[in-house]
Amino acid sequence: MPQLHLFNHQGELVGPVTVPALELTEDEWRARLTPEQFRILRAHGTERAFCGTLLDNKTPGVYACAGCRLPLFTSDSKFHSGTGWPSFFQAIAPGNVAERADGSFGMVRVEILCGRCGGHLGHVFDDGPRPTGLRYCLNSESLDFTPADRTADLADPAAELTPAAASPQVTGQSAQAVFAGGCFWCTEAAFEQLVGVSDVESGYCGGSKGTANYKAVCGGDTQHAEVIRITYDPGVISLDTLLNLFFDAHDPTQLNRQGNDVGTQYRSAVFYADSTQKAAVEAKIATLNASGKYRKPIVTTLEPLTAFYPAEAYHQDYARHNPTQPYIQGHAIPKACQLRARHPELFSPQG
Ligand SMILES: [Zn+2]
Repeated sequence: MPQLHLFNHQGELVGPVTVPALELTEDEWRARLTPEQFRILRAHGTERAFCGTLLDNKTPGVYACAGCRLPLFTSDSKFHSGTGWPSFFQAIAPGNVAERADGSFGMVRVEILCGRCGGHLGHVFDDGPRPTGLRYCLNSESLDFTPADRTADLADPAAELTPAAASPQVTGQSAQAVFAGGCFWCTEAAFEQLVGVSDVESGYCGGSKGTANYKAVCGGDTQHAEVIRITYDPGVISLDTLLNLFFDAHDPTQLNRQGNDVGTQYRSAVFYADSTQKAAVEAKIATLNASGKYRKPIVTTLEPLTAFYPAEAYHQDYARHNPTQPYIQGHAIPKACQLRARHPELFSPQG
């Protein structure tokens, strides 16, 4: 089921919330949409350039799906692309805008769809502006605009079911955190056996799609960091606990290096998915800086999670598959063992 960010009755964006996909029959869609909306959202049409009603809209606010009112983009990421279609460099949240390869018209493009109802929105290209380098090219007819002071109008009942609002005893939920703390072989090994963590994936964040490969990232000038993406159950292990382990598992006062691994790809960073995660990390860094635990200030950067690129298959579970490799023996295994020794209650029995 889709993991989405939604507005609550206070007009705040919250999530991720697991909600069912919206599936309607063709007749139901025809009844709900105008003919032009149906042609674009449900039949993958495209409106004529420079004709859309939202092209020049500069009012601060939120652009939601015209089919199901799921929030998709904000005015903060809208830019003038000159293409004739409304353009954004970033979705409001990772799951809300889905992607699919589109080979129509003899071109290889990436189609973008509403994360809940699957409505066709447009395409995403990698020739956009900083900081993401992406250009989400939209049809105005796919979008429904709500001014910034009226986001409570987009309130969704499912938003009241967010992890923050739910009882901490409720298990079976899923959330993700993306950390960079040096070589991903080591960080992955350290987090893999935590109770409440269902998956740890190595990958790259912070740079563009074209350079998201090990060879390019090792060069050190792609802006990517080696990261791990942790999928966890917030009812079993909290983000706060994961942050404690993250800061414990590496030295967050080393700038662009961890020990002998030197370069911006080894920087200490948290890639936050939303404002709640960002605030939690900022608070954690402030607490640690004030604690006197470190002799130097923490240099961990906070970066928006715009895209996670999984690392090549041979990097996944690298320590487990290559236990005799010297770097794994010298760094990854000792690091995982130290963390386990300091926090035995958080780990599953030795396996
Ligand atoms: Zn939708």
